[in-house]
Amino acid sequence: MNNFEYKNPTKIIFGKNTIEKLTSEIPADAKVLMLYGGGSIKKNGIYDQVKTALAKVDMIEFGGIPANPEYNVLMEALKVIKEENVTYLLAVGGGSVIDGTKFLSAAALYEGEEPWEMLKNKERPNKGLPFGTVLTLPATGSEMNSGLVVSREETKEKLSMGGPALFPTFSILDPQVITSIPKRQLANGITDAFTHVLEQYMTYPAGGLLQDRFAESILQTLVEVAPTVVEDPTNYEATSNFMWSCTMALNGLIQQGVPGDWAIHMMGHELTALFGIDHARTLAVVTPSHYKYNFEAKKEKLAQYAERVWNVTEGSIDDKAYAAIEKTEAFFHQLGIDTKLSDYTKDYEGTAEEIAKRFTERGWKLGERQALLPEDAEKIVKMAY
Ligand code: NAP
Ligand code: FE
Repeated sequence: MNNFEYKNPTKIIFGKNTIEKLTSEIPADAKVLMLYGGGSIKKNGIYDQVKTALAKVDMIEFGGIPANPEYNVLMEALKVIKEENVTYLLAVGGGSVIDGTKFLSAAALYEGEEPWEMLKNKERPNKGLPFGTVLTLPATGSEMNSGLVVSREETKEKLSMGGPALFPTFSILDPQVITSIPKRQLANGITDAFTHVLEQYMTYPAGGLLQDRFAESILQTLVEVAPTVVEDPTNYEATSNFMWSCTMALNGLIQQGVPGDWAIHMMGHELTALFGIDHARTLAVVTPSHYKYNFEAKKEKLAQYAERVWNVTEGSIDDKAYAAIEKTEAFFHQLGIDTKLSDYTKDYEGTAEEIAKRFTERGWKLGERQALLPEDAEKIVKMAY
């Protein structure tokens, strides 16, 4: 294993009816800005639960943060934070609202002119306004990590950053919120969390025996609960395990001491930026071709994954590794998720070249060895057409 230092300061409050615990987490003298998305929380009662819990708190609100949080909308929220002297942020939503709130936490204390520069320069803020979250959609793990992704429609960009100041102070995870999530978003959540684990696991073997078992156990749990979660989101055993699996998939624990790939996410972000495809679906598009393209470098781990997660016991290392890619793609299909770019857009010609051009301009090299050049990304994306 590689050396590591690990600290995760986010307090998790997990379980039924935990939204009512909000009051004890927010400082009594705080001026709070509650942030939310397109309004699902008003239909499913989460908004009312939050307002009831915080009835005695000095709180204003900002709704309308879209999926793939849009920079210009966040800049509107930043104005409110500054004009109203807000001291504490509360995100009530999925990854988009939480990521947007994290960005605002950093932007509120940013000393430069244009907060977008933080994303362009991949700055790692060590100060931010404190914030907590009420998670409404298990998927991203954003509720217990310090990463964020923000989109900008006018330049068709989607960029990520993170920093030690950007962990939520607390996150409330009540699996009962899952009952109102549409099937499409449940399938997305399972796929995103599954791919988060793959990104940290499907690398060259690095001696992380325990890390491998952690990763495999999350993958196995997601495979086990996925059909029930999608068919019956009122099943508490399935949804509570789904919710905790998504958090564990990306709270830093399984990444310690081992290499991380993350090339699938980097290519996927470009597909969302260019075509507006849901984040998780872009991952399902890139994953099979990424593993086929990097087969030699990853085949030992692919074969281990085939054995331990999919119970493939027959055949050579190569046979098992191929079976692993097929099983993964079949899992996405079983969730109703298409795995070719042409399933999502007719305008896919030229996409691979455009992505390679962007990566060249940014000087990006991808993968756990930083050995994938823009021309490799071009070939991978082309294989995914
Ligand atoms: P999302 O974009 O936050 O939400 C997707 C949709 O689900 C929205 O329309 C939302 O409606 C709806 N929704 C949320 N909770 C619901 C509920 N309880 N009932 C009914 N509808 C509900 O989805 P997400 O997958 O969680 O987040 C995706 C974003 O996170 C992407 O930008 C992705 O790049 C980013 N991401 C971040 C990380 C990280 O570590 N920070 C990791 C992976 C991905 P409303 O708009 O009405 O709320
Ligand atoms: Fe993701």
